[in-house]
Amino acid sequence: METVKAYGASSATSDLEMMHIDRRDLTGNDVQIDILYCGVCHSDIHTARSEWGPASYPVVPGHEIVGKVIATGPGVTAFKEGDLVGVGCMVDSCRECSACREGLEQYCENGAVMTYGGKDKHLGGHTFGGYSQNIVVDEAFVVRVPENLDIARVAPLLCAGITTWSPLRHWNVKKGDKVGVIGLGGLGHMGIKLAHALGAYVVMITRSMDKAEDAKALGADEVLLSTDEKAMQKHANSFDFLMNTIPVGHDLNPYISLMKRDTTMAIVGAIEPLKSVHGGMLVSKRKNIAGSMIGGIEETQEMLDFCGEHNILPDVEMIDMQNINEAWERVVRADVKYRFVIDMKSLQ
Ligand code: NAP
Ligand code: ZN
Ligand code: ZN
Repeated sequence: METVKAYGASSATSDLEMMHIDRRDLTGNDVQIDILYCGVCHSDIHTARSEWGPASYPVVPGHEIVGKVIATGPGVTAFKEGDLVGVGCMVDSCRECSACREGLEQYCENGAVMTYGGKDKHLGGHTFGGYSQNIVVDEAFVVRVPENLDIARVAPLLCAGITTWSPLRHWNVKKGDKVGVIGLGGLGHMGIKLAHALGAYVVMITRSMDKAEDAKALGADEVLLSTDEKAMQKHANSFDFLMNTIPVGHDLNPYISLMKRDTTMAIVGAIEPLKSVHGGMLVSKRKNIAGSMIGGIEETQEMLDFCGEHNILPDVEMIDMQNINEAWERVVRADVKYRFVIDMKSLQ
């Protein structure tokens, strides 16, 4: 066992602070990764603050991990020392259920092991994430980072990237489709980039008109201010697909009005009660409201390879580990352009 430095929260109301955590000795298929960069997801905050139900403390967040392999167990075949790799939101699953067999480990019938706050099968207790010096992960949950991508910007692909890629693919977004991305934060900005790269006509739907120029630079064809009723009216019944990244419960009805007959709005943000939906709005045009959670491991690799081919990278603001509390406050205020990434050298 190795003790490493990490940043974590010891209660729902405490700031993140330096602490020490244990990493297991390598078993057969384990890969040890020296963490170079870790992205900051709004989920880190929801979890550490027990906004999704009581968390197990300390919470060491971080599930957008990019690093270098520094050691491998004897059974590892896919990776070797020096490889650039990524780890996202999961570090294990049962691998036997119908979901796992279909490569949908995130929907594992027996519960996937999340990168932080999951049940640690090896050491007992709960898992600790990427706000730390290194991590030990089974190779089946490690993905390869395309060498051509700027390594300092890759980390957010491991959650924000795959969480927006998976619904775009699942609902078969294609060239010429009119796609609305709701909420311009970490997920939203990746949603714009990926939908644009798939050839869609992308409309950024935001409360913040001051983000309009950025949205266009990120690849949006149009910006729609959700608080402008007239503008919303103009886009009524016109979207082929909506991706909703709003992080809290909210009124879905204005967004449902935007959807064409037979289309889907995928909720990826709010993991909490939503306000009531008017059934008539769904019934009258056979509209669907769905949810989507991250993506499977194979699909994550597919997304990374796609980003490698098209040189798609998040827009990031690099911070030191010591500035994490301030960065979190900015995420909560929706003041992030458009993903914080922690340079883990600062934790050495
Ligand atoms: P983020 O960076 O904070 O972005 C969320 C954006 O939503 C904000 O920038 C803001 O954009 C908009 N927004 C914020 N509060 C709002 C409100 N009260 N009403 C309407 N719009 C609001 O968060 P993120 O990291 O992208 O994550 C978004 C959500 O997805 C979080 O809840 C996160 O936990 C969740 N998540 C889910 C999955 C999954 O697997 N489904 C994976 C990762 C994250 P505007 O200023 O443009 O309005
Ligand atoms: Zn995340
Ligand atoms: Zn399973």
